[in-house]
Amino acid sequence: MPILLHDTLAGQKRELTTLEPGAVGLYACGPTVYDFAHLGHARCYVVWDVVVRHLRARGYRVKYVRNFTDVDDKIIARANQRGEDPVALAARFSDAFHQDLDALGCLRPDAEPRVSGHIPEIVELIGLLVQKGYAYAPGNGDVYFSVRKFPEYGKLSRRNLDDLLAGARVDPGEAKQDPLDFALWKGAKPGEPRWPSPWGEGRPGWHIECSAMTRKHLGDRFDLHTGGKDLVFPHHTNEIAQSVCACGDGLHADQYARHWMHNGFVEIDDEKMSKSLGNFFTVRQVLERYDAEGLRLFLLGTHYRRDFNFSDQVLGEAELRLGYLYETLEKADRLAAGTAPAAGDTLLERCRAALDDDFNTPQVLGLLAEAFTAANTLCDLKGKKTPEQRAALAAFAAAARTVGETLGLLGRTPGAALLALRTRAAARRGIDGVVVEARLAERAAARKARDFARSDAIRDELLAGGVAIMDGPEGTTWKVAG
Ligand SMILES: [Zn+2]
Repeated sequence: MPILLHDTLAGQKRELTTLEPGAVGLYACGPTVYDFAHLGHARCYVVWDVVVRHLRARGYRVKYVRNFTDVDDKIIARANQRGEDPVALAARFSDAFHQDLDALGCLRPDAEPRVSGHIPEIVELIGLLVQKGYAYAPGNGDVYFSVRKFPEYGKLSRRNLDDLLAGARVDPGEAKQDPLDFALWKGAKPGEPRWPSPWGEGRPGWHIECSAMTRKHLGDRFDLHTGGKDLVFPHHTNEIAQSVCACGDGLHADQYARHWMHNGFVEIDDEKMSKSLGNFFTVRQVLERYDAEGLRLFLLGTHYRRDFNFSDQVLGEAELRLGYLYETLEKADRLAAGTAPAAGDTLLERCRAALDDDFNTPQVLGLLAEAFTAANTLCDLKGKKTPEQRAALAAFAAAARTVGETLGLLGRTPGAALLALRTRAAARRGIDGVVVEARLAERAAARKARDFARSDAIRDELLAGGVAIMDGPEGTTWKVAG
């Protein structure tokens, strides 16, 4: 089955074709590590994680590269504020980034290059651009790229040079020949990290970092480049210009990454997330209160190209939905125990087909929702299950878990997940599990003594406090009422 993706460079959906059959080199622009990961990071890296997982499930050998930008204006500013070494500060926040993404169930990339470890490669690439006449060093320690020398410069962002010129600016101290030009190398300033170069001590510009790191880890040309849609211009536009001019023919924008995918923004309660709005939720702030897998399920409910709207309330609903999925799996596992899965179940293939079509995760979640409803109905049917019904439930549970693996969901045992979800929900509602258990013991004693008025009163009291109890063949369990 071909994989279709919306390719920003082509401006339309295209079939994924790779340089080497069966292999994909994928580069995702990584974070600038000067602070904790926020929801925008969580969204885009969960999305690319599903892309990697699905390509692998379809048999591709994927080399997944994601960088850390650990040399940058924002890092230097933050480090100077705190009197900390910029590279050390960046290392601290890259560790925190790993913790947050691990919690969200994202696979680690196959390579995670850092700018600070690639200065020779960056200097070499800038040297090539200078040598070929695409870049110039005006003598102030900076090196700039000559935008007008690359005819397909605006192709990715679909803008012409006149539009871009209107937004271009020259900062004090810069020596650009044209306002459109951008810095490849910045001459050293006091209080900034610096490395030697043929143009004097300094540090790389942001865009050249990714061109040098893709070249080192994936080659001059590779298959798929991803990032947030805010990176289309200028970052990715400049990456293409640098790489095509240094390593390609200097004419064709498709001689760097063959395909480009971009994800939408994250909004919070319908406002674009930004620090100035004070709604800049970090992943760890959210995970203090909510389950990470619930957040992941919530994130995948919106197609990656669309803007994602975050709200506490909808996140809470996603967590309830996750609880329902695990409750259903627990029932199906119990009823189908020891039974071979029935043949002919199409859930897995239908979900895979939805992912083949531009990674349509909301559609997959819709297909799963239908399958879970059907399985749940089957589980709750009165009477002993027939061998066919048990085999159908076994097939459902196996397919649901395989789809879950591609989405990075449903990997826990149902019992462990349900307990973790209940603990989260109880903490948010201020419910103490120990107190609940004590009340349940009192109720069990009342029931044993056939004091049903007392037992009902305890049940009603608990329910009024947000605790629902379920009496089953294996005793009484409880959950936070939805
Ligand atoms: Zn980048």
